[in-house]
Amino acid sequence: IWQKTLDILKQTLADQQFVTWIKPIRFVGVKNEEVELEVPNRFVLDWIKKHYQDAIQSCISNAAGASYRIKLCVARTPIKPDAVPVTENPTPPVPAKVQEEHHPQRGNVYNLNSRYTFKTFVLGSSNQFASAAATAVANNPATTYNPLFIYGGVGLGKTHLINAVGNEILKRNPDMKVCYYTSEKFMNELINSLRYAKMDEFRTKFRSMDVLLIDDVQFIAGKERTQEEFFHTFNALYDSHKQIVVTSDKFPKEIPGLEERLRSRFEWGLIADIQAPDMETKQAILKMKAEQNGIDLPHEVAFFLANSVSSNIRELEGYLVRIGAYASLTATPISLAMAQEVLKDILVEKRRELTVEEIQKLVANHYSIKLSDLKSAKRMKALVLPRQIAMYLSRQLTSCSYPEIGERFGGKDHSTIIHAIKKIEKNMEEDYQLRSVINNLKKELSA
Ligand code: ADP
Ligand code: MG
Repeated sequence: IWQKTLDILKQTLADQQFVTWIKPIRFVGVKNEEVELEVPNRFVLDWIKKHYQDAIQSCISNAAGASYRIKLCVARTPIKPDAVPVTENPTPPVPAKVQEEHHPQRGNVYNLNSRYTFKTFVLGSSNQFASAAATAVANNPATTYNPLFIYGGVGLGKTHLINAVGNEILKRNPDMKVCYYTSEKFMNELINSLRYAKMDEFRTKFRSMDVLLIDDVQFIAGKERTQEEFFHTFNALYDSHKQIVVTSDKFPKEIPGLEERLRSRFEWGLIADIQAPDMETKQAILKMKAEQNGIDLPHEVAFFLANSVSSNIRELEGYLVRIGAYASLTATPISLAMAQEVLKDILVEKRRELTVEEIQKLVANHYSIKLSDLKSAKRMKALVLPRQIAMYLSRQLTSCSYPEIGERFGGKDHSTIIHAIKKIEKNMEEDYQLRSVINNLKKELSA
């Protein structure tokens, strides 16, 4: 059955995908309607679960002519490259311990991911503030910052941090009802409750929580009914002194379509941001992830990864997965050359993004002013316009957030940046010359 499945998978997947991810899977056996499979390490496990689980499942069912589920776990004995089993003789069935991290509900706990804890969260200047706020809330729920609002770009650790709050609270107060929901899941459940006339149940459930963690709240913006229900849930919990933590990819004021009354509530407590990690933090995170997964990651490879890719930590982890899998499949240690080879396609594809520094240099050059003056707070007219233009271009041409741009202009407040950008946008509408200057600068930057 497994060999047949492999044949089908081989036809449906690209060679490289097949060799990298499917070939190293070890077939263990079939029990009831479940096919047990083993993979070399945790990374491969996560990857396969995310990308290939459905494909494998349907191919097995195809091959067997009956429906099978698959059960994936990390191998108890090392899987050597090329040790592809062809027989169906199962290895002696040792009870496999698959540690499920993501239970929909476990007693008084909803959806919390137990893998995301403070212990596994690497501190750096980019996340220090948010992490300190989260720790304070976890140590004293509902007595310090309520609500706690954490915002930051994609893949910077918001989900990790908000889960860490829940896990820590549970560790200290095992009887508390802790609930992690993405705002989308909240919405879906609401819609279902409306459809099946179960609103009382829905309300009772959420209002009975001691801790409500809502991830990616920006998704409910523009959804009137969901915002309304969330508003009432929020009030009920807040009034009975329950802790609320919310994350978003944006500052409350910048979430389009977010109701005013919700926005103002988000501002009642503490708002903390997570910024893009610096080189050191990226390397430290990579090292921790490598260690957790038994991957031997040389320093220069960590440096190469941290240096050559974006600030998105999830993406960074993805690269580590690839390199780790490649190393374990070819049974060779990770080296810089290997990392470059494995990632060459991805890294070429991802053309390097402009940096704020490059934009600043070009603008300073164009106006013949000093770079340090451009970044300063001096209010001279000859500096203000170039500075605002550089801020505007930074927002347009990089993926930096307002606070990140402010940081690179000598530590200015994000509202200063927003103000500057609005000003330029407005002036551009009326001022033909300004428009052409900016267009030329853009052209030069993208050359
Ligand atoms: P977001 O929710 O902001 O998009 P996540 O919390 O999902 O980002 O983080 C993406 C990945 O990066 C996760 O696997 C997470 O564990 C990891 N990560 C982010 N920040 C850190 C950190 N400071 N230390 C360790 N891992 C981190
Ligand atoms: Mg997230």
